[in-house]
Amino acid sequence: MFETVIGLEVHTQLNTKTKLFCSCPTSFNDTQNVNTCPTCLALPGALPVLNKEVLEKSVKFGKAVDATINRTSYFDRKSYFYPDSPTAYQITQLYTPVVEHGKLKIDLEDGTSKEIRINRAHIEADAGKNIHEGSYSKVDLNRAGTPLLEIVSEPDLRGVEDTILYLKKLHSIVRYLDISDANMQEGSFRVDVNVSIRPKGDEKLYTRVEIKNINSFKFIQKAIEIEVKRQINAWEDGVYEEEIFQETRLFDQTAQVTKSMRGKEGAADYRYFPEPDLLKAVIDDEMYERNINIPELPDQKKERFVKEFKLSEYNAGVICSELEMAHYFEAMIKAGGSPKVSVNLLTVELLGRLKGGLNISNSPIKAETLGKLALRIDDGTISNKAAKDVLDFLMDSDKDIDEVIDELGLKQVSDTGAIEKMVDDILAANPDKVEQYKGGKDKLFGFFVGQTMKASKGSASPQVVNEILKSKLA
Ligand code: ADP
Ligand code: MG
Ligand code: ZN
Repeated sequence: MFETVIGLEVHTQLNTKTKLFCSCPTSFNDTQNVNTCPTCLALPGALPVLNKEVLEKSVKFGKAVDATINRTSYFDRKSYFYPDSPTAYQITQLYTPVVEHGKLKIDLEDGTSKEIRINRAHIEADAGKNIHEGSYSKVDLNRAGTPLLEIVSEPDLRGVEDTILYLKKLHSIVRYLDISDANMQEGSFRVDVNVSIRPKGDEKLYTRVEIKNINSFKFIQKAIEIEVKRQINAWEDGVYEEEIFQETRLFDQTAQVTKSMRGKEGAADYRYFPEPDLLKAVIDDEMYERNINIPELPDQKKERFVKEFKLSEYNAGVICSELEMAHYFEAMIKAGGSPKVSVNLLTVELLGRLKGGLNISNSPIKAETLGKLALRIDDGTISNKAAKDVLDFLMDSDKDIDEVIDELGLKQVSDTGAIEKMVDDILAANPDKVEQYKGGKDKLFGFFVGQTMKASKGSASPQVVNEILKSKLA
């Protein structure tokens, strides 16, 4: 029996307006190479100057994962040559990172939770992008010098479930803190997965393989499964020593294999040395105080939602996993929806309808509207079933809820007079059934309810129908 051991390096792009060491904008999708200057192009004589906003965001992150925040940290040079890095080195923090020794709690499906240690989080500059077209390649340096916070976990994760939970929690936290957009597709939350195996019960760590830059949770899961299989096969075939060595591999989504990319360089290959062009990075008292009081985090919000709105742990977890969704839910409550009806409309009905690029943030149905719809269910104006029709309608219309309800003729009849009349008609038309019911055939009650609902074309309030039938048949 084998155990999977995983450690993650997550590169989150910090959402500062300007780059790490110059004042070029960090905007995404601009014309190639427009957001560059002598500093990020590494022209001779240009010097880097630290963007302080990066330290502010680092304090927030350090606090959120209960870490040591180094009030003085340093930059180092990591030398390597790639066409997308005009400096031929990366400025990073090797010896004294801004954040160290943190932890992050994950809640497993079986109800237990686990603490994953975070070794460090350090500031570093991103590279540009190589764009390969046919037989040549182009370089876009718009991204060169964008600030990254690289968050490095200890090898505390024991498989796919742990890994995905950790990543989702981390993703959620950086978004709650508003320090990163963490958009995986756009590359602002990039994950390197270090994978090894070991016989269960063994305490020692075996050779790790690093799989680079996998850009979705689904692919991360797949890549781990495939890499673990490769390592176990090698072990069982007696060729572990020969085939599994420390290297960087890439996940090939089409072929569903991991492929060797390069041998893993040791620290010596990088010729690390203290960055001579930058001062030490100091977080002064004022900056520290300004950032240390962070907003409510996902776990705290979840706990509050369970208490305040009596939501189930599960529902509260779903809603609080994304800040936008939590805000959306609270806005529904503010608009008058009850928590119980609101949570169902949001997590089942709305989420089920958000497809093809739609999400909570760009939902065609705003929180105030959905909250009001919840209210209309709560106050008996429409049934749960009718609410679904209203929702379908609203997906491409921004009409007022009450107008839509009128227009679609979905209003429930709670008017007792009208319902009484229908009930009377139905009882009169079915004297034999009434006789049988009174003779003890209780099941027929459902028949009468059904007939009345049918007569009202589904618009009668089931509650009122039940009450009237009960009294008439008594
Ligand atoms: P490097 O810069 O060489 O990638 P780092 O120290 O930045 O090294 O990252 C090492 C990562 O690999 C960490 O996330 C760590 O938890 C993980 N790791 C170390 N040893 C193992 C192992 N045997 N199996 C799985 N992951 C490991
Ligand atoms: Mg690394
Ligand atoms: Zn620049």
